[in-house]
Amino acid sequence: MTDTVTPTAPQSAPQNAPAYEGPRRILSGIQASGALHLGNYLGALKRFTELQDQGAPCFLFVADMHAITVWQDPAKLADQTREIAAAYLASGLDPARSIIFPQSAVRAHADLAWVFNCVARLGWLDRMTQFKEKSGKHKERSSVGLYTYPVLQAADILLYKATEVPTGEDQKQHLELTRDIAAKFNNDFGVPGFFPLPEPLTQGPAPRVMSLRDGSAKMSKSDPSDQSRINLTDDADTIVAKIRKARSDADVLPDTLEALNDRPEAKNLVTIYAALADMTREQVLAQYAGQGFGAFKPALAERAVEAMAPVTAEMRRLMADPAEIDRVLKDGAERASAIADPVVDEVKKIVGFWRA
Ligand code: ATP
Ligand code: MG
Repeated sequence: MTDTVTPTAPQSAPQNAPAYEGPRRILSGIQASGALHLGNYLGALKRFTELQDQGAPCFLFVADMHAITVWQDPAKLADQTREIAAAYLASGLDPARSIIFPQSAVRAHADLAWVFNCVARLGWLDRMTQFKEKSGKHKERSSVGLYTYPVLQAADILLYKATEVPTGEDQKQHLELTRDIAAKFNNDFGVPGFFPLPEPLTQGPAPRVMSLRDGSAKMSKSDPSDQSRINLTDDADTIVAKIRKARSDADVLPDTLEALNDRPEAKNLVTIYAALADMTREQVLAQYAGQGFGAFKPALAERAVEAMAPVTAEMRRLMADPAEIDRVLKDGAERASAIADPVVDEVKKIVGFWRA
């Protein structure tokens, strides 16, 4: 009897493999999976704009291929895509400087994802906590796409040879997987330095905004409770009402951050205030120590309305002119393809695919 052995790449761990030498490039994406919220704004959108304004070339895509890993109404998906593009523009991204595009409009994402499906190991994907959280008790009824989502994400990033990826903390594990895939590809195919090992930029003022209803769950587009999040399209009255009803506790605010460690809801509200006001959490506590949520919540609501109102108004204005958004997305898709296509052509050559 012979064992069946699945062939793997020849093992030749590189000694001092040369580092990637390409230019600095920033890339990130947001799923077209529903209404954007304050967590997306503070953890992602606001930071993209800061990076763009530092002069870094930025690629921002709308992840519609990721969105369909769970059911999306086909009649709504294109509008959801436009809405994310509107949020990019409304939060300050400039299509003349940054490339804004829909993922599905650049075919190379799917091409590279397939190759990476053959590089990534099952054991690596089995460890991904987001799949476990999203599939819950119904793992066997989840789409295969939800399982291989982090592999597509690696393709999204490496297709543009991005060197830095700003995201919320929830994506950190996926970014580590991207680095593993890049390293294994470079090693297996003997092309050291072909793909960069991108750096996650997850350290911001609010890398993990929590749900307003549950201090142990992150604020999410896909949370069925609308009360759990502040949407970028909520008006001032809705924002005030959601913050008034947000879960908190009966204690007053302490004067040290450590004293908030076992008060997740209170800590979350202080973190949100600090990020909105461009203050540190210590500064917020110095101002509000000794006060209860009866006083703190109205102050927080005022900050939230003040910060969100201009973004919301601009998003609404843009959504009223979908043709303008479509022009930005089409132009972005062309510019993105011009960079992505040669990379995927080179990958096909490296892998040894047939060419005439
Ligand atoms: P879904 O529930 O459909 O996964 P989401 O709310 O997690 O939606 P994504 O489109 O998956 O949003 O993520 C877009 C960006 O927003 C990513 O960079 C992600 O890390 C960041 N992000 C998402 N939720 C939060 C949060 N609660 N706090 C900070 N950043 C977040
Ligand atoms: Mg998510």
